[in-house]
Amino acid sequence: MRIAPALLAGLLAGLGSLSVSSHSVNAHSAPESAGSAVVGRLDSCPIDGVSDFSDSWGDARSSGRRHEGVDMVADRGTPVVAVRAGDAEFKRSNLGGNAIWLTASSGERFYYAHLDGWEGKSRPVRAGEVIGYVGQSGNAQGDHLHFETRAGETALNPYPLVASACLSAIAGVQEPVLVRRPLLR
Ligand SMILES: [Zn+2]
Repeated sequence: MRIAPALLAGLLAGLGSLSVSSHSVNAHSAPESAGSAVVGRLDSCPIDGVSDFSDSWGDARSSGRRHEGVDMVADRGTPVVAVRAGDAEFKRSNLGGNAIWLTASSGERFYYAHLDGWEGKSRPVRAGEVIGYVGQSGNAQGDHLHFETRAGETALNPYPLVASACLSAIAGVQEPVLVRRPLLR
């Protein structure tokens, strides 16, 4: 069946207002280029512990989706922390599982998905404050954090920011391990 563009747009708009996951919001297109939107440096690595990650921005995912985040593989239960000071809102969805939207005072937004659980409840947080724990809730295979950065509604590749924040956090401690994990969502 062919869906009329206007109807499809309406469906997607409806999804956008209902879902906390960018996966369904952007099911119709590849990630947009950065344009003039910018997300500044992170004050903290999203994971307080060892993680493996690679640049998988734009990689194909199920149902024609494109990957709009970075997958950070870590042991289940590894603490996840706020990358900036802001408001952390805890939400649950089929795709993202136990998820968090962190909105910084600057308006930049950060999305954490597939958590094993949350720390506390939705609240204002400081940079570096523990807000949850790595897991594989929602549409995930294997324990990992799916992390996104957004300037308004525009998703930007979080990999350079995460690499900078996380590698500096462990500089001098150990070499980071960067591995491609194509099955992760
Ligand atoms: Zn992912």
